[in-house]
Amino acid sequence: MILFGEKLRNFGLNNMPELPEVETIKSQLNRRIKGKRIKNVKVRLPKLVKYPLKKFKDLVRGVKIISISRRAKLLIIKLSNDYCLIIHLKLSGQLIFNGQISKHTHLIYYFTDKGRLLHNDLRQFGFVKVVPQDELADFFTKQGFGPEPLLKKFTLEVFKQRLLKRKKTKIKLLLMDQKFIAGIGNIYADEILFFAGVSPLRKTEMLKSLEIKKIFEGIKKILPEAIRKHGTSSRDYFDAYGKRGNYVPLIKVYQRENKPCFSCKTKIKRIKMANRSAHFCPKCQK
Ligand SMILES: [Zn+2]
Repeated sequence: MILFGEKLRNFGLNNMPELPEVETIKSQLNRRIKGKRIKNVKVRLPKLVKYPLKKFKDLVRGVKIISISRRAKLLIIKLSNDYCLIIHLKLSGQLIFNGQISKHTHLIYYFTDKGRLLHNDLRQFGFVKVVPQDELADFFTKQGFGPEPLLKKFTLEVFKQRLLKRKKTKIKLLLMDQKFIAGIGNIYADEILFFAGVSPLRKTEMLKSLEIKKIFEGIKKILPEAIRKHGTSSRDYFDAYGKRGNYVPLIKVYQRENKPCFSCKTKIKRIKMANRSAHFCPKCQK
């Protein structure tokens, strides 16, 4: 337990929910709120809702939740009136079923069976958009998201083809580029590159075929592992049950600056890359 405490203290910085965290919330909401009917909604922070407020309230009142899905880091709540709510949690958003209302609770959905869903957001960067279902495909086309990494059709061949189009980009930046591949952010890009033994600074044109294969395997291995652990909680991320994710003990490099590498004991390095940090082992990652 001491080890876990030490690890938690290292996580002073915040992490944005990435694919595993949003996927966790998606599955939990499907278990908890799918099929429920919204009685009404209370909006305590109007700027969170990117839709005329009165219309928003009228639109959700009395409708049923059909399903919850995910594209990239966005949640899509399909409603029975042929509209969808698109939710981005950004840096510190939370969707908690039957949680405790706090000063960071900006939106509350009350269901007809007395349950409620809270939308909390400390930093207030998140949003809720309303999109008619028949415009959903257009909405996502405009976002320009890259492929979903966990779909079967995202193969090594697809990954290679996409890399060829972005030869001059450093691999870590590319992994985090939502237009290149959807859902990966700072944590999992660092972890995938450690798994692959590839430095975040490498330009993609310099990667050997075997290294590309290892990065691809890292994507297909680490993201599902993190989903099974309900994601990574540093500070603000909680799942839909208000619980922390359990991936922290499995983290190898992210936010472990100056700590010994678990493989070779070399100190983990942190560098700045395009205003974000990259963490890596200078010995294990070439
Ligand atoms: Zn190492």
